[in-house]
Order: sequence, then C-alpha cells, then structure tokens
Amino acid sequence: MALEMRGACERCDAPLDHNGLAYICSFECSFCGPCTRQLAHKCPSCAGELARRPTRI
Ligand SMILES: [Zn+2]
Ligand SMILES: [Zn+2]
Repeated sequence: MALEMRGACERCDAPLDHNGLAYICSFECSFCGPCTRQLAHKCPSCAGELARRPTRI
C-alpha cells in the first residue's frame, strides 16, 4: 500500500481537501472531521489514534 494522501474519507467517502480538515492514523487511513469525531479519534481499521493531517499544497 503506497504512502500517499488519499483524496476521500474512508468511512463516508467525503472528498478531503488537501487544505481542509482531515485526520489520519499511523497507517495512513484518512477520515473527515465529522467521522473522526464520531469515531472518538480512533481508527476503526487499526484502532490507532487519529491525528490532524498536516496541510500541504
Ligand atoms: Zn467521513
Ligand atoms: Zn488506521
């Protein structure tokens, strides 16, 4: 699995703007803000903690 920024939330498939609010776990699972809140900042795939994704480009 490539380490690249995904373009959509893995839970609700909402598009994630590179400059917008997004959360990512240590295994590169990406989620939107509302889903992250509903998941209590815990990744449903790997149980890792979801952290704010750095904004770049
Ligand atoms: Zn979502
Ligand atoms: Zn994960």
